[in-house]
Amino acid sequence: MSKTTVSYKQQDVGDDYDAILIGSGIGSMTTAALLAKEGWRCLVLERHYMPGGYTHVFKRKGYEWDVGVHYIGEVNRETSFLARLFRYVTDGTLEWADMGDVYDRIRFGDEIYDFVKGREAFTEQLKTYFPDDAKAIDQYIVEVRNAARGARNFFAEKALSQMQSFIAGPFLRKDFKKYASKTTLEVLRSLTQNEKLIAVLTGQYGDYGHPPAQSSFAMHAMVVRHYLNGGTYPVGGSGRIFESYVSGIEQAGGLIATNAEVSEILMEKGKATGVRMADDRVIRAPVVISGAGVHTTINRLLPKAEAQKTGLLQKSQNNPASACHLGLYIGFKESSQSLNLPKANWWYYPPVYDHDKLCADFLADPNAPFPVTYVSFPSAKDPSWDDRYPNRSTVDVITLTNYEWFREWEGTKWHKRGEAYEAKKAEFTERLLNNLYKLEPQLKGKVDHAELSTPLSTQQFCNYAQGEIYGIQHTPDRFEERWLKPKTPIKNLYLSGQDVATAGVGGAMMGGVLCAVSVLGKNMMNDIMTA
Ligand SMILES: Cc1cc2nc3c(=O)[nH]c(=O)nc-3n(C[C@H](O)[C@H](O)[C@H](O)COP(=O)(O)OP(=O)(O)OC[C@H]3O[C@@H](n4cnc5c(N)ncnc54)[C@H](O)[C@@H]3O)c2cc1C
Repeated sequence: MSKTTVSYKQQDVGDDYDAILIGSGIGSMTTAALLAKEGWRCLVLERHYMPGGYTHVFKRKGYEWDVGVHYIGEVNRETSFLARLFRYVTDGTLEWADMGDVYDRIRFGDEIYDFVKGREAFTEQLKTYFPDDAKAIDQYIVEVRNAARGARNFFAEKALSQMQSFIAGPFLRKDFKKYASKTTLEVLRSLTQNEKLIAVLTGQYGDYGHPPAQSSFAMHAMVVRHYLNGGTYPVGGSGRIFESYVSGIEQAGGLIATNAEVSEILMEKGKATGVRMADDRVIRAPVVISGAGVHTTINRLLPKAEAQKTGLLQKSQNNPASACHLGLYIGFKESSQSLNLPKANWWYYPPVYDHDKLCADFLADPNAPFPVTYVSFPSAKDPSWDDRYPNRSTVDVITLTNYEWFREWEGTKWHKRGEAYEAKKAEFTERLLNNLYKLEPQLKGKVDHAELSTPLSTQQFCNYAQGEIYGIQHTPDRFEERWLKPKTPIKNLYLSGQDVATAGVGGAMMGGVLCAVSVLGKNMMNDIMTA
């Protein structure tokens, strides 16, 4: 447990709060920090023993691994919204380390394509790989910029009142919807017929979880735009993100409790009035905010009758969960320097320039090649690592998976799921390690510790029913769902986090901002933009 939180099991958390927040992910924490700036006393209830949601780290055998933060864009541009937002909510206590000129390396078989930071450098580099497609590449960058620009108004509408939204909504949604309603593949095919170029441009699709024929182009564009100025990593590791939020919330009289599982949102006369904890204790507050994801909130925390009556149950069921993953966490008893670990991430693919086919083939047959092998080097990215963990280093390797392959072990206990489960994990581990050795052969024979997470691990620790990475899917349909906003049809119940805006640390924080604006009825943009 972090030093900055209390354990619900060991301390009475009291009940005199202005708002209760369910979950301590970056979405909830952003909302709590913004409310705290306005003097609100917030109680943040986190069911895991580690706070931070997907920003948390776990430690084992003298190592530490991040679970859901490998790189963040835009914070290295002082004047960007995200840089200012981080400064505002953390009082400038979080530092960022640049990943260098190349942030992502896309590799198909032996062919490597570097994503270089800076719009011009990125474009020029791509043109060296695809000189015949120079015009398409220029146009692609224009479309990415336009789609990402349209996002501002689109998301701003989510914090408006019903009346404001009725009047201004069509105008605010227009530019973004043009892109959001198309798949990434549709837009890219309108620019080029070069399937190799399309496969390279969508080489980061794992950042939102869907191959090009499924994802909304708007989501693709927001991610591409987000990293276009390069990648950064939190100094001190991703656990620093949560820690940097805490004092602002506590100074306003708030509290963050771990081991604090909410089992139900309390409803009285059609209004949310508090929460029931897993130990049956009731805590009341005038406002309840859930950052636990819409599926968890609606399907598992709201009383069923209420979820049905308000139509929320049907709406949530119409929006499937995003992809799930296998995560291999590896430790080495040597420093990143001596192992020559890079800072840039690898996106490694078989030499088949069709992400949709690779995904479909693998999800139908676990023996097919991994559709993607993503490799991140946290110890190399964090300049404070060597002081914290001398002569050690870590690597994360990730691929997509199929929840159905693990369903038979649903309900079993962590570390006690049995031999067949361990055997399946061992098989996937070996295959992921083999891919890692193709990329970084110097690591062969040097692994000190390796452990694989499955969707059941994600389910266990982050409470996503199918271990999903990014909440609900980011297909064109998602951006038609106007109910995905902080204010719910239930009085005093609000939503925060990645399902409100989009996945990603920046997206979940945006969900957190929209939620605070909706709760307070105050436009906080001036305060944030002057930070
Ligand atoms: C493998 C992986 C890699 C990623 N890499 C990146 C990256 O490099 N860059 C990037 O920007 N984004 C990345 N992301 C995405 C990003 O981490 C998430 O989109 C974002 O952190 C989600 O924040 P959130 O607050 O919406 O939800 P979460 O972080 O999921 O927080 C929800 C919290 O609610 C808690 N909760 C659930 N139910 C209850 C309950 N009943 N009672 C109490 N608490 C409850 C959960 O335990 C959890 O802590 C990655 C995600 C994953 C999984």
